[in-house]
Amino acid sequence: MDRPIIGMPTAPRAGPGSRRVLLGATALSLGAWLPLSGACGGPDIAPAVLVFRGGTIATMDPAEPRAEAVAVRDGRIVHVGDEAGVAPYVGPSTEVVDLAGRMLLPGFHDTHVHPVSGGVELGECDLNPARSRADVVRIVSECRARGAPATWVRGGGYQLPIFPDGAPARELLDSLVPDRPAYLTSADGHTAWVNSRALELAGVTAATPDPPPDGLVVRDADGRPQGTLRESAMRLVGRHVPEHTQAEIEAGLRLGLEMAARLGITTVHEASAGEPYARAYAAAERDGWLSARAVVALTVDEGRGVDQIDDLVALRSLYRGRLARPAAAKVFLDGVIEAGTAALLAPYDDRPGWRGELRFDPDTLTALVGALDDAGFKVHVHAIGDRAIRVALDAFEAQHARDGGAGPTHLMAHIQLIDPDDIGRFAELGVAASFQPLWFYADTYITDLTEPRLGPARSRWLYPARSVTESGALLVAGSDWSVSSMDPLDAIEVALTRRDPDLDEGPSWIREERLDLETMLRAYTIAAAEAGDLAHETGSITLGKSADLVVLDADLHALPPERISDARVDLTVFEGRIVYRR
Ligand SMILES: [Zn+2]
Repeated sequence: MDRPIIGMPTAPRAGPGSRRVLLGATALSLGAWLPLSGACGGPDIAPAVLVFRGGTIATMDPAEPRAEAVAVRDGRIVHVGDEAGVAPYVGPSTEVVDLAGRMLLPGFHDTHVHPVSGGVELGECDLNPARSRADVVRIVSECRARGAPATWVRGGGYQLPIFPDGAPARELLDSLVPDRPAYLTSADGHTAWVNSRALELAGVTAATPDPPPDGLVVRDADGRPQGTLRESAMRLVGRHVPEHTQAEIEAGLRLGLEMAARLGITTVHEASAGEPYARAYAAAERDGWLSARAVVALTVDEGRGVDQIDDLVALRSLYRGRLARPAAAKVFLDGVIEAGTAALLAPYDDRPGWRGELRFDPDTLTALVGALDDAGFKVHVHAIGDRAIRVALDAFEAQHARDGGAGPTHLMAHIQLIDPDDIGRFAELGVAASFQPLWFYADTYITDLTEPRLGPARSRWLYPARSVTESGALLVAGSDWSVSSMDPLDAIEVALTRRDPDLDEGPSWIREERLDLETMLRAYTIAAAEAGDLAHETGSITLGKSADLVVLDADLHALPPERISDARVDLTVFEGRIVYRR
């Protein structure tokens, strides 16, 4: 979702040595634990807070992939090894978790998620549970009844395929909310549904042009706004919706983090943050309720070029914490295929001559990526169409040619339609490939809104995750919640089956691109830590690393792929603290 950066602060710029200081501090804390590796059963070993034993422990550390027992103290892993070696760590106050056939893993990393906006949505008119038009009607009616008169009915999360052409009409919303303005966004955040009152307030009429670069006011036969606004046209009405207060934003983050903890997630890559969101993460850390590490991507303003780098650097230094770090910058490069707004190399099959629009021209993007990399930012690119993906890779390649890949690890999210010629370039350029595996099956988004727009030849290259990983790329995963479920186990299942997670049989969609369990476990743990430049600190169960852990109620290796989404998280540990217990 697109949140503008507002109220840019005038904080001092981060000094050039700031990144080094950060790394040095981490190395120190790691080093403090290293002598313990030699202390095996010595009498002076302080008791652990937590000990795990008796089940499958998949460390995701290639040097020691399996262990019998793990001990945790002061937020760190102080023992990984055999049962005998853990005994000296068990004291009177140690909680010993008998895994009893269950599974201990490093905590999951979600490399593309919107904990704040998703959490805010949960507190508003939440259409995410709606599966049908009737559900939408019922939920919106309830929202209208609940809200104060004269305020906006706002929220979102509706699925585009519920409505013909993914374009719900204002007449339906007028019948549900006749007296107040209503603004509801689709689950993917690229479309808004508004009623007549909202269009009136915003002054949007038949005479209003489609706003550049990619806005689309869907119109009826008479040219009047039909009630659906796409991409930058959303702002025509969206800018009249009252801003969320900082308290609402922080309450949203709290809900988002609670959901992450329930699902075993201990690192999030916040996919798009303006200043209020960055401030919310900093507040969560300061006040002690940040239950996951956060790599926060500050939103890059598409209306500006490299002149905004200083402002982003200022935000980074203002809100940088130990756990929540605005270390990344988010660039939205195109829209989505379902709405015909993704940037394609060849025209859409259903709209002759139309290839979608890039939100940045390639030269501007190359300059931006270069300047962000030079300033030490991880670039987090939203790219969906094969042209957006190629243009982004070109920009990374230009930077790679200048500095040989010395900068931070960059990441491209969604990567829905990859031209086969570009598949190998993720590995060549060291760009992390962040898929949303829950999208790897033929739901109505694919069958009704995507494949007909692309045709069969191109559709073969939708989410070619196996081809990407076999080319040697750093494959990671994310939910894009609240676009779709945040549950990593749902996503892992679909990556393996390429089938609806609710179905236990049936054909796999593009079956040659199915992934294996080890690849997916890496994608959610150590590979993601590498993509976050956090592998020195988390991502595997390794002596001295942060105790970021999850206990599942089953050993995933023992389950058939179609049962993986049935497994449940029993316990989530972040920095040695239990942040969720079922
Ligand atoms: Zn997103």
